[in-house]
Formats: sequence, structure tokens, C-alpha cells
Amino acid sequence: MNKPAHLIFALLCVLLGTQCTQQRLQRQALESPTVVLDIGHYYAPGKGGQGARTPDASQGAQLEECEFWYRYAHFVKEVVEQAGYHCVVCNRGETPTDPELARLARQSGVVQIKTPIPTAVYRSQHHPDRMAVGILSADYALDCKPGAVVFLHLNSESDSWLVSNKGAFYCNPVGVTLATTMANSMNLSIFDHGMPNNGVPCGVVVRTDGHRGGGDWLNTCNESFVPAVITEVAFLSNPQHARFLAQPANAERFARAIGIGIVRFMQQRKS
Ligand SMILES: [Zn+2]
Repeated sequence: MNKPAHLIFALLCVLLGTQCTQQRLQRQALESPTVVLDIGHYYAPGKGGQGARTPDASQGAQLEECEFWYRYAHFVKEVVEQAGYHCVVCNRGETPTDPELARLARQSGVVQIKTPIPTAVYRSQHHPDRMAVGILSADYALDCKPGAVVFLHLNSESDSWLVSNKGAFYCNPVGVTLATTMANSMNLSIFDHGMPNNGVPCGVVVRTDGHRGGGDWLNTCNESFVPAVITEVAFLSNPQHARFLAQPANAERFARAIGIGIVRFMQQRKS
């Protein structure tokens, strides 16, 4: 071959190689029986969860999102496993020092992801252009070769009480169907079915912008063709939501509705 022909041949090989990798990753996600649940934020020994929290105790309980999910993630996992899927729960940082939360972490089989400084920005091993606090959770999730990744959070809009009804599942572009299916599940059994939301349905927000609020976790999953969602559907600063979630039976219903949404997505993937 002459020089230009060599060059064209080399370019074709690169293009075909990239296409093959894409197709392999897409097929891997589509056929994977694994769901990864990441408990958001981390637990500081002796201090408690370091996520969003209710402004005060006036609505019946003081809730913090990392502790909330240490307490209730096992219900999401149970729903996913009962449908026949494999479910992994993880969190960056150490096991909670609170004995009850530590017991629940064992019950959920939480994998503690080694993160030397939980507040530091790390670079993704899967997609080195992606850097963020908490990216090691996204990396661990991708190590599991999953069909779906769900980052378990609760939102907060204010340091004081404020009725807000803009709850949504934030998703990556390949996760729109996952987020929509999960939003439908929320609308069927939680939003204005126990948890007042003033007639506003659960939203779906596609995030392609790297650095805003967990965007890089979604992007790194997107670059591996893995549907991923951050659950930002309830506001701890909304007294209506906080009163609902403060009741353990309601919190269980909320967690199970998230699990049901995930299962419906997993079941519909090939249809
Ligand atoms: Zn959060």
C-alpha cells in the first residue's frame, strides 16, 4: 500500500475498533442482570451523614439523606432481588459508627468504597476526563458491569422550610427510559398518594453538563453506555415531604417505589 492508503486503512481500523467497543459495552449493559445502588454522600465517624438534612425537628423527625438511605436502601434491594436481579449496594467512606446504621449496612451488604478523602475530587479510572467528588462510586458501579446505576439521594432547596414540588430523577442521555419509568412509579404510588406534591408530577431531567451536581457521575456512566439516575425526587426542606418521610412505613413505601421503577425498567429493556 502507498502512504495515503496506509493512513486510510489505519483510520478505518480505529473507527471499526471504536464501533466494536461501543457495541460490546451497549450489549453488556443491555444484558446485565446487575443493578448498583449507591448511597449518596458519606458518614463521618462520630458526626453522622454529611448530605442534605431537614432544617430542624419541627416536622416530626430530623432526617439526613445519607443516613436515610443507610436505613432504607435494603427495601430497594429487596424489590430488585425479588424480581430476580442481582443488586449491589455501595457507599464511599467508612461504615457508620451508629450501631443501628452499622447493622442496617450489614443487612444491605453495603460495599464501602475506599475513598481516602471523601470530600476530595478524584479522577475516573474508566473515563479519565471525568473528575468529581464521589466519582469513585461511579467507577465502582462500572466495575460491576451493571444494567443500571441508581445514586440514592434526597434533595434540599433551602436551609429553612420551603414548599417546593420540583422533584425529579436526574439522568444521563442513555438513562432517560430508566428515569421515566422510575418517575411513573413515583407518580403511581407516592406523589400525591401520601406524599403531598400539590398536583405536580415527578420530573425527569437529562444532565449532559459535566460538573453540576453529580453530572460527572452520570457522564462517566453514559460513556460506558450504562443508564444512570440520581434520585432527587423528595425535598428535605419541604415540610410536606419531610413529614411523609419521617414515618418509617412511608419511607419504606418510598424506597420500594424506587425499586419497582428500577425493576420495570430492567424487565422492559429488550421489548
Ligand atoms: Zn445528595
